[in-house]
Amino acid sequence: MTALTSQKTVQLPLWRQIQRQNFLRWDDLVEYLQLSSELRQKVLPKGRFPLNLPRRLAQKIQKNSINDPILRQFVPLQEEETLTDGYTLEPLQDPKFLQSKKLLHKYQGRALILTTSACAMHCRFCFRQNYSYETETIGFEDDLTYIAQETDLSEIILSGGDPLSLNDGQLQSLLQGLELIPHVKRVRFHTRFPIGIPERLDDSFLQVLEASSKQIVFIIHCNHPRELDSDVADALKRVQKLGIPVLNQTVLLKGVNDDEAILLELSESLVQAGVLPYYLHLHDLVQGTAHFLVSDERGKELVQYLHKHTSGYAVPRLVREVPGQPGKTLIL
Ligand code: SF4
Repeated sequence: MTALTSQKTVQLPLWRQIQRQNFLRWDDLVEYLQLSSELRQKVLPKGRFPLNLPRRLAQKIQKNSINDPILRQFVPLQEEETLTDGYTLEPLQDPKFLQSKKLLHKYQGRALILTTSACAMHCRFCFRQNYSYETETIGFEDDLTYIAQETDLSEIILSGGDPLSLNDGQLQSLLQGLELIPHVKRVRFHTRFPIGIPERLDDSFLQVLEASSKQIVFIIHCNHPRELDSDVADALKRVQKLGIPVLNQTVLLKGVNDDEAILLELSESLVQAGVLPYYLHLHDLVQGTAHFLVSDERGKELVQYLHKHTSGYAVPRLVREVPGQPGKTLIL
């Protein structure tokens, strides 16, 4: 056998293979969406935040339309080039709260690890789209040391980027590190992966979760009922079967979900999938996202509508993040 033929080919997990098929290029996407030459002009060939869209979500977009709620969340549009007063590149001032290279300590009892800059998809409204992530340090030793010293930290939030972008070995080693810190009671995952690539919740990942003795909490991020389909619900069910609560947060976005019927359908579909709607976030004032703005008053109207039309546990709390505040600021 020659050296070449004896080399083992490493088989990527299915979810990685699927992720590699994401749309990353303007020309592939506008072709796929069958956009007319007039509509193509409205899509930015190169957004400041690069295009990254899983096929599953692209398949849900109406062809030859620029107003589709899925498209508006993920496809860079000309509107992003409008500069607006009051909008900045870093509205939440996260770097001020860094305690180690990857750990943010903003709230009492909780700290957040920026596990990675990578995501399953790139959302146009993301408040971390301009964040300069630390990528030189491999592993989480410094962050774990900080957590071990801060004995009031009972919950660690794994965010990013998306923590599920890490491979299972990396996640396992991080969870094993947390396992050794007795005052950490809970580990919370914030992830949008299940919406774009539900295959990520595979047996290998579930074994990583199962091996942890900490209470795990899953927060997914779903903004529109069309994001939630039976494949997504089935994948989440696998997590729920491990005794892991799954909650959802939504960002309120003009042209996506600022509508009574859509939010009601979203809440009902989430509850049907065993997922509790948790927060409805007013969007963060990131430069280039002013076209998504929904006023506080409209947000209140929408939540009041939900109060009248569905069960109390299906009504998310309307909040915004204000830098320096000890938690989310409740608007209603
Ligand atoms: S998945 Fe989350 S972190 Fe990643 S771009 Fe979307 S909103 Fe931002």
